[in-house]
Parts: sequence; structure tokens; C-alpha cells
Amino acid sequence: MSERSVLIIGGGIIGLCSAYYLVNKGWRVTVLERSKTDFAGTSYGNAGLIVPSHFVPIASRGMMTAGLKMALNPTAAFGARPMTPGFRNWAMRSSRFALSDHASRVAPYIRDLNLLSQREYDEMLPAIGMPDHPKKRGLYMVAESQHCMDELAHFQVAAMDLGLESHLLSREEVSEQLSIQINSFGGVHFLCDSDLPPHQVMEKLKAYLSSVGVDLQYECEVQDFKATNGKIRAVRTNKGDFSADEYVLAAGSWTGKLANQLRLNLPMLPGKGHSMTLTGLSQVSSAPVLLEEGKIAINPMVDGVRISGNFVLGDWGSKPIRQRITAVQQRLQKVIPAWQSHNFSKESIWVGFRPCTPDGLPYLGRVGAWENLTLAAGHAMMGMSLGPATGRLVSQILTGEKTSLPISALSPERKI
Ligand SMILES: Cc1cc2nc3c(=O)[nH]c(=O)nc-3n(C[C@H](O)[C@H](O)[C@H](O)COP(=O)(O)OP(=O)(O)OC[C@H]3O[C@@H](n4cnc5c(N)ncnc54)[C@H](O)[C@@H]3O)c2cc1C
Repeated sequence: MSERSVLIIGGGIIGLCSAYYLVNKGWRVTVLERSKTDFAGTSYGNAGLIVPSHFVPIASRGMMTAGLKMALNPTAAFGARPMTPGFRNWAMRSSRFALSDHASRVAPYIRDLNLLSQREYDEMLPAIGMPDHPKKRGLYMVAESQHCMDELAHFQVAAMDLGLESHLLSREEVSEQLSIQINSFGGVHFLCDSDLPPHQVMEKLKAYLSSVGVDLQYECEVQDFKATNGKIRAVRTNKGDFSADEYVLAAGSWTGKLANQLRLNLPMLPGKGHSMTLTGLSQVSSAPVLLEEGKIAINPMVDGVRISGNFVLGDWGSKPIRQRITAVQQRLQKVIPAWQSHNFSKESIWVGFRPCTPDGLPYLGRVGAWENLTLAAGHAMMGMSLGPATGRLVSQILTGEKTSLPISALSPERKI
């Protein structure tokens, strides 16, 4: 059979992982990315946590309740922009899922997707020149109050029921195991989780893909589709038309807008977040930490300690939100005494957009209307974790092989 060709729209972790598995199966692959080569979008500045422990989707009763409590507080971890077009529609759909048994039904499936991805990372990272990653240090979820600790203990039982290795820790054990004093009420060590430095992974992936012949087109924005008789014939970009046998739409938070042009209705909103990478700290934790109440992730990486947080639903703005960042910094100084004297005001702040679907599951699969289109987007706060599993599944969809996991729950045509 002659070499088949595929155009992937979007050069984030999902697009690049799809390219990785497809080129390794002999496909001629082109990736179209509208940003410059040296940009650092959502797949670069995130926390880098690989999280089987995050088996609860955003469309859950707990997250909805927490979100509603925080929504009016301008310094809280969670916020919302309800005037954003599509917000009402998204929120109504999402709350229907949150108030049903959806979260407990999909938890084993989200776990399996994550575990598949971890296995794929174990093979992919050495192959692209990162033999020491992912780091198997686990994730420490830490509570700052007794109430939160009780919730964490409850959550840990659910994790154990799903076969996810984890240990409950006292406040002394938290500080001792992390080699830094943390003012907490205790926590849970999720040994099932791992971590990686997202920026390096993205750069290594790009270098690997170029070396094996993938055509990475930067500053190439897809503006429109040329499609007839149920088939996409080409995409129109600022660099001219590109065509291929197959098309993969992996444009992160922007996927819904692009899909509209193909008359597909994929409700999506961005969940804007921030990160900063601190250097020069006198003490750092020996493993990643998640401060549960503030939803602040702390990941000690090769080039500094990455702090990430905030989730502002529906916010497309590229500017950091100062009030929320200050609250994150103050919380860190309260919980980690060794960081009290750190001057946070000089830190540069990165902004990213989690692509969120109303039920908290990605859109992955084909659609009836277009025979040569595959959707791969909407991974919310787990896109870095689920990149390789998604890439593997995309390659199996395109080649018509049996998929490593059933994917009907992710169908872009499911009832949302
Ligand atoms: C603060 C923060 C912390 C996070 N922490 C974690 C974590 O610890 N673990 C985890 O698993 N996930 C985490 N995430 C989520 C994760 O970063 C995302 O789910 C993931 O990066 C999404 O990848 P993507 O490839 O779908 O989208 P993106 O990385 O956004 O890539 C999509 C690409 O498509 C391009 N594009 C859009 N429109 C067009 C067009 N018309 N033409 C051409 N190109 C186009 C965009 O420029 C973009 O580069 C975090 C996110 C944030 C914001």
C-alpha cells in the first residue's frame, strides 16, 4: 500500500503525540501550528504531573460545589467568566453530568486511560532522548485543614478501591518525606503518579519528529476547510492550502471554534491557569506536591520549581490575573516557611488554557459527517498525562486497528 498522509492541526502535546505514533507506523505526517517555533503554549508551562490519581472529572458534584463556593471570590483558586459566549450552554450541560452518577461511572475509565498513557510515556520518553523520565516520585496531596484531610482520607479509599497505590500520611510524615517543612494537617502520597518537565518533553518531541521526517509547519494558521461530499479535501491557511488523506483536529481549547466551521457542535471552554518557575530557592521539596485547598501544584523540575494554579472557566484573556497570583504566592509562603523570604514579585507568569468539555472527557474519534476527520481535544487538566494514550489511540483509529481501550465513551458524537 502506498504511504498514507495525514495533516494534524495543532502542535500541542496531543498533536505531537499523534504525529509520533503515526510517523512510526509509516504515515507521511504534517503538523500545522499557528504559533512560532519558540512559543510556549498550554502544553509547555503546565505542572507536568502524570496523574492516574485524578480519576474524578471536572463534571462532578464535588468540583461543582467547590467551584460555586469560590466563583465570587476574586482571589480563589477557581473563577468563572459567565458572560463568555457559550458559557451558559456549557455550564448547564456540565451541571447535568455533575448531578448524576457520571463521575463514579467514568472513574475506572479515566484511570485506565491514564495508566495506558503512563506505559506509553515509559517507552516514548527514552526513545526521544529522555531516559530518566518520567520521574516516579508520586504526588503528595496535602491538606491545610482537618476538614480537607478528612476529605482526602475518603478520596484515598476510593483510589485504593480503583487499585491506585497510595498512603495516608500524618503532618510529620509529609514534611519528613518531602524533606521540607510543610504546614499541613497531613496528606496522601499517590505512588501511582509520576511527573516530567513539559517544556523539555515538547522540545525533544519536536526534535525527534523532525529527525524522522515529520513536516512541522509553524506560523501556519488553519483558517478554513475545503470539504465536499462528506470528505475534507484541503485546509486553507495563511501559508496556502494543505491537503492529505486524513485530518486530525487537535487544536486544544480552540478546537470547538474550528469544528464549527465544519458544522460540528463541540461545546468547549478554556480553563485559564497560571504557572511560574522559581529558581534560587534555598530549599525545595523532593517530590511534587498538590496543596489541596488552593489547588496549587508544586513540581521540582530540572530548571526550577514549577508552581501552577488557578482555573478560570471561560477566560480567553492572555494576561495573568494579578489578584489570583498574589493569593497563590501568599498561600505558598504560609504553608512553606522556608519560602517566606522569597521575592515573588519578580517572577514571570505564564498563562495556559485547559481545553474543557462539559462532561470532563476528551473528544476522541471520528464523526459521521466527515469520513477523513478525527477529533482529539478537550483533555482539560489532564492533557499532559493523556498525550501518549491519545496519540496511540488516534493512530489506531486511522489505521483501523483495534484500539488499546474502547473509545465509545469519548466519541465526539456522544450525548452531551
Ligand atoms: C496551569 C496549568 C497546569 C496544568 N497542569 C497539568 C498537569 O500537571 N498534568 C496534565 O496532564 N495536564 C495539565 N494541564 C493541562 C494540559 O496542559 C492541557 O490539557 C494540554 O496541554 C492540552 O494539550 P493540547 O495539545 O490539547 O492543546 P494545546 O497545548 O493548547 O495545543 C493546541 C495547539 O493548537 C494550536 N492552534 C489552535 N488553533 C489553530 C489553528 N487555527 N491553526 C493552527 N494551529 C492552531 C494552538 O496554537 C496550540 O499550540 C495544565 C494546564 C494548565 C493551564
